[in-house]
Amino acid sequence: MDAADLVIVGGGAAGLAAAIAAAERIGGRHVVLLDGAKTLGAKMLISGGGRCNVTHEAVSASDFFGNRRIIKNVLAAFPVRETIDWFHALGVELKREDTGKLFPTTDKARTVLHALLNRCQALDINMFTGHRVSRIECGLDGRKGFTVVHSRGAIHTRTLILATGGRSLPKSGSDGSGYAFANDLGHSVTATVPALVPLLLDDKMFHRELSGVSQEVTLTTVLAGKAVDVRTGSLLWTHFGVSGPVVMDASRVWTLARERGDRAEIYLNVLPGRTFEQAKHWFIMQASESPRRSVVKTLALVVPERFAEAVCAAVGCNPQRAAAQMPRSERDRLLSVLTRLALPVTGDRGWNVAEVTAGGVPLEEINFRTMESKVVRGLYLIGEILDCDGRIGGFNFQWAWASGHLAGCAAAASVS
Ligand SMILES: Cc1cc2nc3c(=O)[nH]c(=O)nc-3n(C[C@H](O)[C@H](O)[C@H](O)COP(=O)(O)OP(=O)(O)OC[C@H]3O[C@@H](n4cnc5c(N)ncnc54)[C@H](O)[C@@H]3O)c2cc1C
Repeated sequence: MDAADLVIVGGGAAGLAAAIAAAERIGGRHVVLLDGAKTLGAKMLISGGGRCNVTHEAVSASDFFGNRRIIKNVLAAFPVRETIDWFHALGVELKREDTGKLFPTTDKARTVLHALLNRCQALDINMFTGHRVSRIECGLDGRKGFTVVHSRGAIHTRTLILATGGRSLPKSGSDGSGYAFANDLGHSVTATVPALVPLLLDDKMFHRELSGVSQEVTLTTVLAGKAVDVRTGSLLWTHFGVSGPVVMDASRVWTLARERGDRAEIYLNVLPGRTFEQAKHWFIMQASESPRRSVVKTLALVVPERFAEAVCAAVGCNPQRAAAQMPRSERDRLLSVLTRLALPVTGDRGWNVAEVTAGGVPLEEINFRTMESKVVRGLYLIGEILDCDGRIGGFNFQWAWASGHLAGCAAAASVS
């Protein structure tokens, strides 16, 4: 059986960051990286719409779900400034967009992937693609450490980094098999559900006719009568339902509730910042200033006109009627829908579309200074396999770079 000082299972963002950090300290020939995929980086290449949103100018624990005290410590050990410097040293310059997201100046994810792989090559890291791991055992034949069984044989190591990702985009190789390894090694795994995923709506909704329309909304998720998540941002209507950053960010609250057998309700206020009373006041002012302007044209001052038409039809009011002529009851019905529009969510778009996984190995089972397992010595867990998921904007990669870097340094120190 082969043997190595340090084996990393999974060569995604976290695994590559760990491999580089470790190899820079103990030399690449002591580091073995195994990945089941034929080539590395499939997910990275399609990330950020093919541009790879590497990180965000301001990353804090509040951008993530999970144990925020632990997340804060991990992020602090490898902050955004270090990510920027690290990529600079790898030959990748990053630029900031208005949203605060950082992308490579080339606007190509390939630039990021190539820089990481080139560094691995320059460090002489033993990289084995097409090596799918099927089983990991603690020790074997009385030896300490781990036996990693893969599609081409087995390898023994004293130090193991598990970087197998979550369940999102299974065709890229991240199919959740890492959770079983963590479980077999003694870790618990919380329920895993798709996150950063578009949501499907019942056909009784008017989403199809609005496909392609986007608008600013406040989205509230209600569980057992209590608003548990409130966020404002851009929503995109699609032929299947709703997408866009605000929906993607909120989706994990809905998918997690469904997993637990709870019913989460989602409401939109398409007039963000206005209550029903404030919306009514605004409408009355508009109707008195321009009494002959139609209802739909009045609404089109604050929402897309196609949406205004659809909502008028749904509420059963005449969109062409002059705003000042609108019966009070009809106006109030319309404005109450605009400030609290219930979305009949029937499901999500699933693992093939979800960008990340909510749930995983609890952070409490990890030493946040090193990413070493508190359950098994010599085992490190990093990236998406852990119960930590960020919102859209480069936060998930930042988690992968930070946790990967920490584990790579700590594992190297333990080996040497
Ligand atoms: C479409 C899409 C777009 C995204 N865009 C962004 C973005 O722009 N910015 C951002 O911050 N985040 C983005 N994300 C999220 C981000 O890609 C992930 O959070 C991040 O890649 C997780 O890194 P990881 O290394 O933990 O896991 P992964 O990148 O999933 O890597 C895991 C690796 O482990 C390997 N593996 C798994 N099981 C085994 C096994 N049994 N044996 C051997 N190898 C195995 C896999 O082949 C894979 O290479 C996006 C995700 C998707 C799906």
